[in-house]
Amino acid sequence: STFHTELVIIGTGMAGIGLARALRRLGDQRSITMISADSGDDYSKPLLSTGVAKGLAPDQLAQRSATELGDELNARIITHTPVSTLDVDNRSILLEDEQASSYERLSYDTLVLATGAAPREPFKVDPSVSSRCFAINNLDDYRRFYAALDHRHVRVAIIGAGLVGCEFANDLHAGRHQVSIIAPETTLLPRLLPAPLGNALGEAFSEAGIHLHLGRTINSIAPHSIEGIVLRLDNGDTVSADLVLMATGLAPRTALAEAAGVSVSPTGIEVDRQLRTSHPDIYALGDVACVDGVNAMYVQPLQASAKALAATLTGTPTSVSFGAWPVVVKTPLLPVVAYPPKETPARWRIEGEGGDISALAENKDGRLIGFALTGGCVRRKVELSRAAPTLLG
Ligand code: FAD
Repeated sequence: STFHTELVIIGTGMAGIGLARALRRLGDQRSITMISADSGDDYSKPLLSTGVAKGLAPDQLAQRSATELGDELNARIITHTPVSTLDVDNRSILLEDEQASSYERLSYDTLVLATGAAPREPFKVDPSVSSRCFAINNLDDYRRFYAALDHRHVRVAIIGAGLVGCEFANDLHAGRHQVSIIAPETTLLPRLLPAPLGNALGEAFSEAGIHLHLGRTINSIAPHSIEGIVLRLDNGDTVSADLVLMATGLAPRTALAEAAGVSVSPTGIEVDRQLRTSHPDIYALGDVACVDGVNAMYVQPLQASAKALAATLTGTPTSVSFGAWPVVVKTPLLPVVAYPPKETPARWRIEGEGGDISALAENKDGRLIGFALTGGCVRRKVELSRAAPTLLG
């Protein structure tokens, strides 16, 4: 059967929902169908790495169910349905109903790809431990992980020292779980912080009792009759854990677009300032979109994109711009704010002591092009953001 909607949005993350909401706010009445590979609940993804410390059960993180969302937006919301076929010539997508082993063809006038980014899997986890290895990138993942914690105090080995790994480490530690971090890099938050600041965060974590295994890769993860899971590292050390959390980075989900012939790069679906892809009537925004060469993968850029795209789709072509929006890392053990420079700086000017450090990235002309702040120095966030160049001017 074929069903027609004026606008199809693939993805019900903050980008897809943000766009639908912005359109309705402008009074737009067109028919909208939204499709999600997951439960379609409306939730704030950044809160996932703050839930354990706050004692929030997964359902408390869901602001609205998919049904409530559909009512609010006057949209049809199709959940648990990954789209695998996009037919750009016939302006349609194919939806598979696995249970009924049937297909529905959905045709559109306008298509928006808001498919987000998926956790990278740097290695295959052995089936003998896979039931205790997790990656948390949506509310459904968080539900499974939360169920595995089962109100006990457990040992969690986190693989990865980036934003997601560090935030979950701090959150699980605050929830009185025993946390280890294992990563090949030698400092925490290597893509956000120069080494002295990454070390300051590492010291705050170590002092709190989080075990750091930095500069280490994993040789094996195996079940153990007494120890639960044992991770063997390249230097021969072993880490025992009850659960493993993989926080090994995110890759934009470009496969659907790429298979349909829409231009993509390793950093996302390529779109212009009006969020237009290489194909007419197909747009992209959020973690999947690379806007004029920039894929920020944060909330503020996707909110600005949703607003601009809603204006464009309602007849006011609007180019998006991104400000100098720093990343606020949710690590209460040592607050971190970072606005990483887009190009390699000529030098970092680093000042401060203990956990209170500010690092200013300068180009060869001495101009501020980025910054990183820890501890009490995070107060300089607003002042430095004003002085720094925008992400996308
Ligand atoms: P997603 O939320 O990933 O949504 C993608 C949607 O597409 C999903 O509904 C999925 O089911 C659907 N989908 C994908 N493929 C298909 C398909 N083939 N068919 C159908 N549906 C499909 N940012 C900040 O600015 N501040 C923070 O403090 C912060 N903290 C974070 C903490 C964590 C733990 C994580 C993981 C991220 C954090 N971020 C933060 C980043 C921020 O959450 C993301 O940038 C944002 O949520 C991305 O939204 P999105 O809608 O683009 O993608």
